[in-house]
Amino acid sequence: MEIRTIGVVGAGTMGNGIAQVAAQAGYNVVMRDIEERFVQGGLKNIDRFLAKSVEKGKMTADDKAAVTGRIKGTTKVEDLKDADFIIEAALEVMDLKKQVFAELDELTGKDVILCTNTSSMSITEIATATKRPDKVAGLHFFNPVPLMRLVEIVRGHNTSDATVATAAEVVKRLGKESIEVKMDVPAFVVNRLMVPHFIEAMKLLEQGVATKEDIDKAAKLGLNYPMGPFELMDLTGLDINLNVNEYLRKELPQELKWQSSMELKNLVKTGSLGRKTGKGWYDYNK
Ligand code: NAD
Repeated sequence: MEIRTIGVVGAGTMGNGIAQVAAQAGYNVVMRDIEERFVQGGLKNIDRFLAKSVEKGKMTADDKAAVTGRIKGTTKVEDLKDADFIIEAALEVMDLKKQVFAELDELTGKDVILCTNTSSMSITEIATATKRPDKVAGLHFFNPVPLMRLVEIVRGHNTSDATVATAAEVVKRLGKESIEVKMDVPAFVVNRLMVPHFIEAMKLLEQGVATKEDIDKAAKLGLNYPMGPFELMDLTGLDINLNVNEYLRKELPQELKWQSSMELKNLVKTGSLGRKTGKGWYDYNK
Protein backbone atom coordinates (compact mmCIF):
# COMPACT_ATOMS: atom_id res chain seq x y z
CA MET A 1 0.00 0.00 0.00
CA GLU A 2 1.38 3.39 -0.91
CA ILE A 3 1.60 5.66 2.09
CA ARG A 4 0.37 9.14 1.30
CA THR A 5 -1.29 10.28 4.49
CA ILE A 6 0.16 9.94 7.94
CA GLY A 7 -2.14 10.26 10.94
CA VAL A 8 -0.63 11.66 14.14
CA VAL A 9 -2.42 11.20 17.46
CA GLY A 10 -1.56 14.03 19.88
CA ALA A 11 -0.40 17.54 18.98
CA GLY A 12 1.94 17.98 21.97
CA THR A 13 5.73 18.19 22.04
CA MET A 14 6.27 14.98 20.08
CA GLY A 15 3.07 14.93 18.01
CA ASN A 16 3.62 18.32 16.41
CA GLY A 17 7.28 17.52 15.75
CA ILE A 18 6.33 14.26 14.04
CA ALA A 19 3.58 16.01 12.04
CA GLN A 20 6.10 18.62 10.91
CA VAL A 21 8.78 16.20 9.71
CA ALA A 22 6.15 14.07 7.97
CA ALA A 23 4.78 17.11 6.11
CA GLN A 24 8.33 18.23 5.25
CA ALA A 25 8.91 14.79 3.73
CA GLY A 26 5.91 15.34 1.45
CA TYR A 27 3.28 13.29 3.28
CA ASN A 28 -0.19 14.65 3.90
CA VAL A 29 -0.71 14.77 7.64
CA VAL A 30 -3.78 14.63 9.86
CA MET A 31 -2.86 15.66 13.42
CA ARG A 32 -5.52 14.94 16.01
CA ASP A 33 -5.74 16.10 19.62
CA ILE A 34 -8.67 16.09 22.04
CA GLU A 35 -9.15 19.86 22.34
CA GLU A 36 -8.91 22.67 19.82
CA ARG A 37 -6.46 24.63 22.01
CA PHE A 38 -3.99 21.69 21.89
CA VAL A 39 -4.38 21.39 18.12
CA GLN A 40 -3.78 25.11 17.69
CA GLY A 41 -0.80 24.96 20.07
CA GLY A 42 0.75 22.21 17.94
CA LEU A 43 0.14 24.08 14.68
CA LYS A 44 1.63 27.25 16.19
CA ASN A 45 4.77 25.38 17.24
CA ILE A 46 5.24 24.03 13.73
CA ASP A 47 4.70 27.49 12.26
CA ARG A 48 7.24 29.00 14.67
CA PHE A 49 9.87 26.37 13.86
CA LEU A 50 9.42 26.75 10.10
CA ALA A 51 9.41 30.57 10.32
CA LYS A 52 12.85 30.36 11.96
CA SER A 53 14.03 28.07 9.14
CA VAL A 54 12.87 30.70 6.61
CA GLU A 55 14.63 33.46 8.58
CA LYS A 56 17.84 31.42 8.57
CA GLY A 57 17.53 30.85 4.81
CA LYS A 58 17.07 27.08 5.22
CA MET A 59 13.75 27.10 3.36
CA THR A 60 11.70 29.54 1.30
CA ALA A 61 8.41 31.09 2.40
CA ASP A 62 6.73 29.10 -0.41
CA ASP A 63 8.19 25.83 0.91
CA LYS A 64 6.93 26.72 4.39
CA ALA A 65 3.45 27.39 3.04
CA ALA A 66 3.50 24.06 1.19
CA VAL A 67 4.52 22.19 4.35
CA THR A 68 1.90 23.80 6.59
CA GLY A 69 -0.67 23.33 3.81
CA ARG A 70 -0.16 19.57 4.03
CA ILE A 71 -1.06 19.47 7.75
CA LYS A 72 -4.67 19.27 8.80
CA GLY A 73 -5.24 19.80 12.52
CA THR A 74 -8.40 18.32 14.00
CA THR A 75 -10.17 17.24 17.17
CA LYS A 76 -12.29 14.69 15.30
CA VAL A 77 -11.03 11.14 15.56
CA GLU A 78 -12.97 10.25 12.37
CA ASP A 79 -10.57 12.46 10.40
CA LEU A 80 -7.94 9.73 10.91
CA LYS A 81 -10.12 7.25 9.02
CA ASP A 82 -8.31 7.59 5.71
CA ALA A 83 -4.76 7.70 7.06
CA ASP A 84 -2.41 5.10 5.57
CA PHE A 85 -0.02 4.95 8.52
CA ILE A 86 -0.58 6.21 12.06
CA ILE A 87 1.82 7.38 14.76
CA GLU A 88 0.39 7.81 18.25
CA ALA A 89 2.05 10.41 20.50
CA ALA A 90 -0.52 10.88 23.27
CA LEU A 91 0.32 10.71 26.96
CA GLU A 92 2.55 8.00 28.47
CA VAL A 93 -0.36 6.18 30.12
CA MET A 94 -0.98 2.54 29.21
CA ASP A 95 -4.79 2.60 29.56
CA LEU A 96 -5.02 5.69 27.38
CA LYS A 97 -2.79 4.15 24.70
CA LYS A 98 -4.86 0.97 24.66
CA GLN A 99 -8.05 3.00 24.34
CA VAL A 100 -6.56 4.98 21.44
CA PHE A 101 -5.37 1.80 19.67
CA ALA A 102 -8.75 0.07 20.10
CA GLU A 103 -10.39 3.15 18.57
CA LEU A 104 -7.90 3.29 15.67
CA ASP A 105 -8.35 -0.44 15.05
CA GLU A 106 -12.09 0.08 14.57
CA LEU A 107 -11.69 3.19 12.47
CA THR A 108 -8.87 2.55 10.01
CA GLY A 109 -8.41 0.15 7.08
CA LYS A 110 -7.23 -3.30 8.11
CA ASP A 111 -3.84 -2.91 6.38
CA VAL A 112 -2.94 0.33 8.13
CA ILE A 113 0.11 0.13 10.39
CA LEU A 114 -0.43 1.59 13.85
CA CYS A 115 2.70 2.87 15.60
CA THR A 116 3.25 4.24 19.07
CA ASN A 117 5.86 6.77 20.11
CA THR A 118 5.89 5.43 23.67
CA SER A 119 9.18 6.08 25.49
CA SER A 120 9.10 2.90 27.52
CA MET A 121 5.89 0.92 27.45
CA SER A 122 5.17 -2.54 26.08
CA ILE A 123 4.33 -2.56 22.38
CA THR A 124 3.00 -6.09 22.85
CA GLU A 125 0.53 -4.93 25.50
CA ILE A 126 -0.60 -1.90 23.46
CA ALA A 127 -1.13 -4.23 20.46
CA THR A 128 -3.52 -6.42 22.49
CA ALA A 129 -6.06 -3.60 22.17
CA THR A 130 -6.22 -4.32 18.41
CA LYS A 131 -7.09 -7.21 16.12
CA ARG A 132 -3.91 -6.55 14.11
CA PRO A 133 -0.96 -7.07 16.52
CA ASP A 134 1.26 -7.90 13.52
CA LYS A 135 0.73 -4.33 12.27
CA VAL A 136 1.57 -2.60 15.55
CA ALA A 137 5.11 -1.36 16.23
CA GLY A 138 6.98 1.19 18.30
CA LEU A 139 8.32 4.21 16.44
CA HIS A 140 10.28 6.07 19.06
CA PHE A 141 11.27 9.58 18.02
CA PHE A 142 13.42 11.89 20.13
CA ASN A 143 12.90 15.44 21.29
CA PRO A 144 13.05 17.87 19.48
CA VAL A 145 11.81 15.72 16.60
CA PRO A 146 12.87 17.99 13.71
CA LEU A 147 16.47 18.04 15.00
CA MET A 148 17.05 14.57 16.46
CA ARG A 149 18.22 12.06 13.87
CA LEU A 150 17.36 8.73 15.46
CA VAL A 151 14.13 6.76 15.52
CA GLU A 152 13.95 3.41 17.33
CA ILE A 153 11.77 0.90 15.50
CA VAL A 154 10.53 -1.46 18.18
CA ARG A 155 9.11 -4.91 17.56
CA GLY A 156 6.23 -6.07 19.71
CA HIS A 157 5.95 -9.83 20.28
CA ASN A 158 3.78 -10.20 17.14
CA THR A 159 5.08 -7.39 14.91
CA SER A 160 5.65 -8.76 11.40
CA ASP A 161 8.78 -8.32 9.29
CA ALA A 162 6.66 -6.49 6.70
CA THR A 163 5.56 -3.95 9.33
CA VAL A 164 9.16 -3.34 10.40
CA ALA A 165 10.22 -2.94 6.75
CA THR A 166 7.45 -0.41 6.03
CA ALA A 167 8.22 1.50 9.22
CA ALA A 168 11.90 1.63 8.20
CA GLU A 169 10.94 3.03 4.78
CA VAL A 170 8.81 5.75 6.36
CA VAL A 171 11.59 6.66 8.81
CA LYS A 172 14.06 6.88 5.92
CA ARG A 173 11.76 9.15 3.96
CA LEU A 174 11.49 11.38 7.04
CA GLY A 175 15.26 11.83 6.73
CA LYS A 176 15.97 9.96 9.96
CA GLU A 177 18.26 7.09 10.88
CA SER A 178 16.72 4.07 12.54
CA ILE A 179 17.78 1.19 14.72
CA GLU A 180 15.71 -1.94 15.12
CA VAL A 181 14.92 -2.94 18.68
CA LYS A 182 14.44 -6.65 18.18
CA MET A 183 12.78 -7.43 21.47
CA ASP A 184 9.99 -5.68 23.32
CA VAL A 185 11.82 -4.71 26.51
CA PRO A 186 10.85 -1.75 28.73
CA ALA A 187 12.40 1.53 27.55
CA PHE A 188 14.09 -0.06 24.51
CA VAL A 189 17.75 0.94 23.94
CA VAL A 190 18.19 4.70 24.28
CA ASN A 191 16.20 5.14 27.48
CA ARG A 192 17.80 2.04 29.01
CA LEU A 193 21.08 3.89 28.55
CA MET A 194 19.74 7.29 29.54
CA VAL A 195 17.69 6.63 32.69
CA PRO A 196 20.49 5.03 34.76
CA HIS A 197 22.73 8.02 34.05
CA PHE A 198 19.96 10.37 35.19
CA ILE A 199 19.50 8.34 38.38
CA GLU A 200 23.23 8.38 39.09
CA ALA A 201 23.35 12.14 38.45
CA MET A 202 20.52 12.68 40.94
CA LYS A 203 22.22 10.47 43.54
CA LEU A 204 25.44 12.46 43.16
CA LEU A 205 23.47 15.67 43.68
CA GLU A 206 21.51 14.34 46.67
CA GLN A 207 24.66 13.00 48.31
CA GLY A 208 26.28 16.43 47.93
CA VAL A 209 29.10 15.07 45.77
CA ALA A 210 28.83 17.91 43.25
CA THR A 211 26.46 20.69 42.17
CA LYS A 212 24.10 20.07 39.25
CA GLU A 213 26.09 22.58 37.21
CA ASP A 214 29.31 20.65 37.83
CA ILE A 215 27.65 17.28 37.11
CA ASP A 216 26.38 18.69 33.80
CA LYS A 217 29.85 20.10 33.09
CA ALA A 218 31.40 16.70 33.88
CA ALA A 219 29.14 14.93 31.37
CA LYS A 220 29.80 17.55 28.67
CA LEU A 221 33.54 17.97 29.06
CA GLY A 222 34.45 14.55 30.45
CA LEU A 223 32.21 12.36 28.30
CA ASN A 224 31.79 14.69 25.36
CA TYR A 225 27.98 14.58 25.72
CA PRO A 226 26.30 17.60 24.11
CA MET A 227 24.09 18.14 27.19
CA GLY A 228 24.40 17.36 30.86
CA PRO A 229 21.87 15.05 32.58
CA PHE A 230 20.01 17.88 34.34
CA GLU A 231 19.77 19.94 31.16
CA LEU A 232 18.49 16.89 29.28
CA MET A 233 15.95 16.07 32.01
CA ASP A 234 14.61 19.62 31.74
CA LEU A 235 14.28 19.28 27.97
CA THR A 236 12.54 15.93 27.99
CA GLY A 237 10.28 16.77 30.94
CA LEU A 238 10.71 15.79 34.57
CA ASP A 239 7.20 14.30 34.62
CA ILE A 240 7.97 12.00 31.70
CA ASN A 241 11.29 11.02 33.25
CA LEU A 242 9.60 10.05 36.49
CA ASN A 243 6.94 8.07 34.58
CA VAL A 244 9.60 6.16 32.65
CA ASN A 245 11.64 5.60 35.79
CA GLU A 246 8.64 4.26 37.73
CA TYR A 247 7.60 2.06 34.79
CA LEU A 248 11.10 0.51 34.66
CA ARG A 249 11.02 -0.10 38.41
CA LYS A 250 7.66 -1.85 38.11
CA GLU A 251 8.62 -3.92 35.04
CA LEU A 252 12.14 -4.83 36.13
CA PRO A 253 11.81 -5.11 39.93
CA GLN A 254 14.85 -7.38 40.22
CA GLU A 255 17.07 -4.48 39.15
CA LEU A 256 17.39 -2.14 42.13
CA LYS A 257 18.99 0.59 40.05
CA TRP A 258 15.58 1.89 38.99
CA GLN A 259 14.69 3.48 42.36
CA SER A 260 13.35 7.00 41.64
CA SER A 261 15.06 9.89 43.35
CA MET A 262 13.02 11.49 46.16
CA GLU A 263 14.10 14.92 44.92
CA LEU A 264 12.69 14.22 41.43
CA LYS A 265 9.44 12.95 42.96
CA ASN A 266 9.15 16.12 45.02
CA LEU A 267 9.88 18.36 42.05
CA VAL A 268 7.16 16.63 40.05
CA LYS A 269 4.72 16.66 43.02
CA THR A 270 5.17 20.40 43.47
CA GLY A 271 4.43 20.95 39.78
CA SER A 272 7.90 21.96 38.57
CA LEU A 273 7.36 20.20 35.29
CA GLY A 274 10.24 21.70 33.34
CA ARG A 275 8.88 22.10 29.87
CA LYS A 276 5.46 23.42 30.87
CA THR A 277 6.44 25.88 33.62
CA GLY A 278 9.80 26.99 32.27
CA LYS A 279 11.24 25.64 35.51
CA GLY A 280 13.07 22.42 36.19
CA TRP A 281 16.49 21.82 37.60
CA TYR A 282 17.34 25.14 36.01
CA ASP A 283 15.04 28.14 36.04
CA TYR A 284 14.79 29.25 32.43
CA ASN A 285 12.76 32.35 33.38
CA LYS A 286 15.64 33.86 35.36
P1 NAD B 1 2.59 16.09 25.58
O1 NAD B 1 1.95 16.12 26.93
O2 NAD B 1 3.41 17.24 25.15
O3 NAD B 1 1.48 15.83 24.45
C1 NAD B 1 0.54 14.80 24.52
C2 NAD B 1 -0.71 15.28 23.80
O4 NAD B 1 -1.59 14.17 23.65
C3 NAD B 1 -1.49 16.35 24.59
O5 NAD B 1 -1.65 17.50 23.76
C4 NAD B 1 -2.82 15.67 24.90
O6 NAD B 1 -3.93 16.56 24.89
C5 NAD B 1 -2.91 14.67 23.77
N1 NAD B 1 -3.85 13.58 23.99
C6 NAD B 1 -4.23 13.00 25.14
N2 NAD B 1 -5.15 12.03 24.89
C7 NAD B 1 -5.36 12.01 23.55
C8 NAD B 1 -6.19 11.26 22.68
N3 NAD B 1 -7.00 10.33 23.14
N4 NAD B 1 -6.14 11.53 21.36
C9 NAD B 1 -5.32 12.49 20.88
N5 NAD B 1 -4.52 13.24 21.66
C10 NAD B 1 -4.53 13.00 22.98
O7 NAD B 1 3.45 14.74 25.56
P2 NAD B 1 4.73 14.42 24.66
O8 NAD B 1 5.94 14.86 25.37
O9 NAD B 1 4.47 14.88 23.27
O10 NAD B 1 4.73 12.82 24.72
C11 NAD B 1 3.88 12.06 23.90
C12 NAD B 1 4.37 10.62 23.86
O11 NAD B 1 5.70 10.61 23.31
C13 NAD B 1 4.47 9.94 25.23
O12 NAD B 1 4.15 8.58 25.08
C14 NAD B 1 5.92 10.14 25.59
O13 NAD B 1 6.40 9.18 26.50
C15 NAD B 1 6.59 9.99 24.23
N6 NAD B 1 7.90 10.62 24.10
C16 NAD B 1 8.14 11.84 24.67
C17 NAD B 1 9.41 12.42 24.52
C18 NAD B 1 9.73 13.77 25.11
O14 NAD B 1 10.92 14.11 25.20
N7 NAD B 1 8.77 14.58 25.49
C19 NAD B 1 10.40 11.75 23.77
C20 NAD B 1 10.09 10.53 23.17
C21 NAD B 1 8.83 9.97 23.35
